[in-house]
Amino acid sequence: MSSLNRAVFLDRDGVICYDVHYMSSPAQFMLMPGVGEGIKKLNEVGFLIIVVTNQSGLKRGLITEENLNKIHERMVKELSAYGAKIDDIYVCPCLPEEDCECRKPRPGMLLEAAKKHGIDLKSSFMIGDKQIDAEAGKAAGCTTILITDDPEAKADYKVKSFKEAVEIIMSETKG
Ligand SMILES: [Mg+2]
Repeated sequence: MSSLNRAVFLDRDGVICYDVHYMSSPAQFMLMPGVGEGIKKLNEVGFLIIVVTNQSGLKRGLITEENLNKIHERMVKELSAYGAKIDDIYVCPCLPEEDCECRKPRPGMLLEAAKKHGIDLKSSFMIGDKQIDAEAGKAAGCTTILITDDPEAKADYKVKSFKEAVEIIMSETKG
């Protein structure tokens, strides 16, 4: 048995909360349906829950780090009402043109989390709503799930809801 951890990496906007373009205040944060219940289930079967989010609004000056932290405090608090817990949050503040290693579709945030938390990426999952999420997950070696109705989207699994994504993870990891 491997002593490494399994993780579910989660995009934030459009997966955990409704996607507000350049969300800049905690008042704009609204959990999407089924997310609290779903994360709790994943917690219970031993997955680490790691949020990986591109937030170029930081470097664009559209959001302060202080407000971003407040948004994430609200996220943690709202999830705790469901008994759901996030283990870590990774934020890429960079602009696309900086060509950094952390901005999705690159897998930098996932790789850094894997190192820090001892994660076996091959038995881990990435849930996102955009192609860049699936690309980052695939580049890291994870199974990818996209919540999308885009027929052009490419991922190991495409689903309609967070609940369905959790059901896939549960059925894939049974036994
Ligand atoms: Mg998203």
